[in-house]
Amino acid sequence: MPREEGVLERLETVLAGEADAKVRAIAELAVGPLIAERERRDLGRMRRLEPTRRGKCDFCGERDAPVREDLETRIPTAGLPRAALICRGCDARAA
Ligand SMILES: [Zn+2]
Repeated sequence: MPREEGVLERLETVLAGEADAKVRAIAELAVGPLIAERERRDLGRMRRLEPTRRGKCDFCGERDAPVREDLETRIPTAGLPRAALICRGCDARAA
């Protein structure tokens, strides 16, 4: 598999648009572990850096709040599910 950044994203886009469930299952089998590995890497990076980003909290709906991505909670979208955004208040309550 190519290691170049962006390749997985492109594959994910292709997968999301692939209507044939059989093709999707085979492709996910091939790409799934790579995506999982990348998410583990992203999680590790996030824990180290804890960048402050602002956005809308998916839990309480507060806008322009300091949020982080909650990779364990998936928000369904038209394409691939994305990680939920959680504000510090909800994060503290969930902990
Ligand atoms: Zn919140």
